[in-house]
Amino acid sequence: MLRIDPHTHTTCSDGTLSAAQLLEAAAQAHLDVIGITDHDTFAHYDAVQEAYSQAPEHTQSLQVILGVEVSCELPGGIGCHILAYLCPPDGQHLAPLLQRSRDSRWSALKMMVQKLASDFAITWDSVAALVPGNGTPGRPHVADALVNAGAFPNRSAAFDHVLSRGGRYYVPRWAPTPLEAIEAIKADGGVPILAHPFAPMRGRVLSAQDVKTMAEAGLAGIEVYHRDLDAQGQALALRLAQENGLLVSGASDYHGEGKPNLLGENLMPEETYLAVCRRGAYPVLGQDRLL
Ligand code: AMP
Ligand code: ZN
Ligand code: FE
Ligand code: FE
Repeated sequence: MLRIDPHTHTTCSDGTLSAAQLLEAAAQAHLDVIGITDHDTFAHYDAVQEAYSQAPEHTQSLQVILGVEVSCELPGGIGCHILAYLCPPDGQHLAPLLQRSRDSRWSALKMMVQKLASDFAITWDSVAALVPGNGTPGRPHVADALVNAGAFPNRSAAFDHVLSRGGRYYVPRWAPTPLEAIEAIKADGGVPILAHPFAPMRGRVLSAQDVKTMAEAGLAGIEVYHRDLDAQGQALALRLAQENGLLVSGASDYHGEGKPNLLGENLMPEETYLAVCRRGAYPVLGQDRLL
C-alpha cells in the first residue's frame, strides 16, 4: 500500500516549512505521496516544482500532488474548507475567487490587529513581516506575532484565547460559498474534496443536507480520517460518503511547527488517490516513477 498524505501546508500560507523542507520531511516520514495544499493560493505550485526538481534523489522518489485548500462560507456563518486537487493554476474560474479571498484576508486581518493592538504589544508590521511576498495571510500569522510578543506560548493558545471565530477580536472576511468553489474547481479541471467536516472546535458544523447539496454540485470526496474529527464525526462522514457516492480521504493537515499534527498520522486510501489522479487536469510530480 502506498503511504499517501495528501493535505499539508508550506510557508506559502500558514505552514512553517518551505517547500524544500516539507519534501525532505515527507521523505523522512516514509511517505510515497505528499499532497501540498496551501490556503487560497497557487503560489506554492512554482515553489514546490522548483524544490522538487532540485531535491536530492531520495526525495525525488516521492510523488507530489498539488492542490489548493479553498476557504468557503455558508450562509449563517458556517465555514468549511474544500480541497481542490490537481487544479491547474492558469484556469479562469478558481483564481479570481482566490484573489478576492486573499484581498479580503488582508483587510480583515488588518482590522483584527488594530483591535488586538489595544490589548497586546503587536503591530500590523510585525504581522505582515511574517507573510512571504506572494503568500496567503491568516490568523496563524497573527498568532505568531502574539507569540513573538510573549503574549502566548504557541499558536494554539493564541487561537483559544483571542483568535477564534466569535471571539471579540474576530473580523469576518469574504469567502466563496462551497457551491461557488465546487463549480469553479470543476470548471478548471480540479477534483473537489471536502476537508475535515464535522470538526466541532471549528465552530458551527455542516449538516448532512449541506454535504448532499455539495455532492449534487459535483463534490468528489470527503476527508474522513483527520484528527479534528472525533469517532462520531468520522462515522458520520463515512456514512455520508457511502450515501452520496463520495471518495473517502484522510490526511494529517501538517503545518510544520504551527500545529501538533504529524506527517503521515492519517492517510488517503490508495483507490481514492488513483481516482484523483485519473480525474485531475494537472500532472502529478514524479508519477511515472511509481505507477
Ligand atoms: P484563517 O486562515 O485565518 O481562517 O485561520 C485558519 C487557520 O488557522 C487554519 O489553517 C488552521 O489550521 C489554523 N488553526 C486553527 N486553529 C488553530 C489552533 N488552535 N492552533 C494552530 N492553528 C490553528
Ligand atoms: Zn492552515
Ligand atoms: Fe482546513
Ligand atoms: Fe489545511
